[in-house]
Amino acid sequence: MVSSEAAPLAKTGGLADVVGALPSALRGFGDDVAVVIPRYGSIDLKSLRRVFDSLPIYLGLTRYDTSIYQAAEEFPLYLVDCPPLFDRKGFYGETGVDYPDNHIRFAVFARAALGVARYLFRTEIFHCHDWQAGLVPAYLRTAAATDPTYLGVRTLFTIHNLGYQGLFPKTALADVALPASVYRPDGMEFFGHVSYVKGGISFADWLSTVSPTYAREIQTPEFGFGLDGALRSRAGVLTGILNGVDYREWSPETDTLLPARYSAEDLSGKRVCKEQLLREFGLPAEALDRPLLGVVSRFTRQKGTDILAHAAGGIVDRDVYLVALGSGEPEYEEFFRRAAAEYPGRIAVKIGFDNALAHRIEAGADVFLMPSQYEPCGLNQIYSLKYGTVPVVRATGGLDDTIEESTGFKFIEYSPEALLGALTAATQAYQDRQGWQEMMRRGMRQDFSWKASAAAYSALYRQLLGV
Ligand code: ADP
Repeated sequence: MVSSEAAPLAKTGGLADVVGALPSALRGFGDDVAVVIPRYGSIDLKSLRRVFDSLPIYLGLTRYDTSIYQAAEEFPLYLVDCPPLFDRKGFYGETGVDYPDNHIRFAVFARAALGVARYLFRTEIFHCHDWQAGLVPAYLRTAAATDPTYLGVRTLFTIHNLGYQGLFPKTALADVALPASVYRPDGMEFFGHVSYVKGGISFADWLSTVSPTYAREIQTPEFGFGLDGALRSRAGVLTGILNGVDYREWSPETDTLLPARYSAEDLSGKRVCKEQLLREFGLPAEALDRPLLGVVSRFTRQKGTDILAHAAGGIVDRDVYLVALGSGEPEYEEFFRRAAAEYPGRIAVKIGFDNALAHRIEAGADVFLMPSQYEPCGLNQIYSLKYGTVPVVRATGGLDDTIEESTGFKFIEYSPEALLGALTAATQAYQDRQGWQEMMRRGMRQDFSWKASAAAYSALYRQLLGV
């Protein structure tokens, strides 16, 4: 697997969770998986073992010296070390601005991944994730096409979020030593730019995305970000496989990050979690018997932050409380800060990335809000089910695939009114304590573990190899 993130070492979102958990789950199906990620500045070299000293990578005449490290994980996790490119504060940029040499960074990364397959890990399939790995299929179809090392090797490209495409000026092609012949609409050309995600979409043997509904949605103009045509032309090799979640990390019975543990049989610990969460966010004790809404999210437009902000007044009118954790675009962080200032004691916000607090919100809230504009899969709503925190979601992508009428509340139109409509239904249902607890328990008993997803990926690998 070639990916720019893998939990726990490098994580900004769901991609890292997937790549961190899927390899171990695949072992149960007899598949040996190694993962390659960059060695970012935040990953301490002291915790790693150097396994390959000198892997020079030439992009044209420019030489990049890389070496490969390995982390002590359940599966071989290789890290590409190239300090001038990756020993930086951010993964993709800083203070909201992308690094100007991202096209070089993820070209060197892709070439280093090919090197790992040549020297360290015999590879039958490159499973490439998102645009940062998009050049692996592109190099395999061009410069490496006649290299005997990769004869018969297959590629699978998984789209975790089509909103991130890796677009660069046309001159990037020469910088990364790709031939001009790939600059065509059924190659990597995209409205006058070079698109790394199209390296995957056009050149991989098979494509997948992270839920069946998102696989259909991205073939439409509304969700396709201009790539719907390219995806429709490959519809025959595009599959949707729902992500699993790692219940070793996310189960209220065993979660050591919570003030109290609980289960579907004994929910009493959840009240303790709620009490402490209210205190932590400075919300009043009266809130204990009213619905507490939780949000953990990247604050971007994708996550529905704008309709949520516009619904703030309506939320407060319904006599409910809201705690939110997130970080992202300054404009949306500001939305939340303002809502908290306007409705003190009702809406409370922490800006930042804090895994332990994310767990405490999942456990302490009654309702989890995910009003996403689009959502390839989404993990938090699945965690919420397990924590007995009833999801209120927009019916899109993986949210639509994982939440049912019996386990949560869905709305269709992307508007504050529709969101408030679903919230009204949820707060009314909350009045019926017994009915509500039954709904919680139905969610808690559902199983979205990696087993089903790993089985689907494993079957796809076998199909690709013709075995
Ligand atoms: P995405 O990958 O689009 O960000 P997902 O729902 O698939 O959305 O995955 C988000 C993951 O990141 C979850 O594990 C969630 O708990 C975590 N997360 C998101 N924002 C924060 C935050 N501010 N603090 C802690 N964890 C966060």
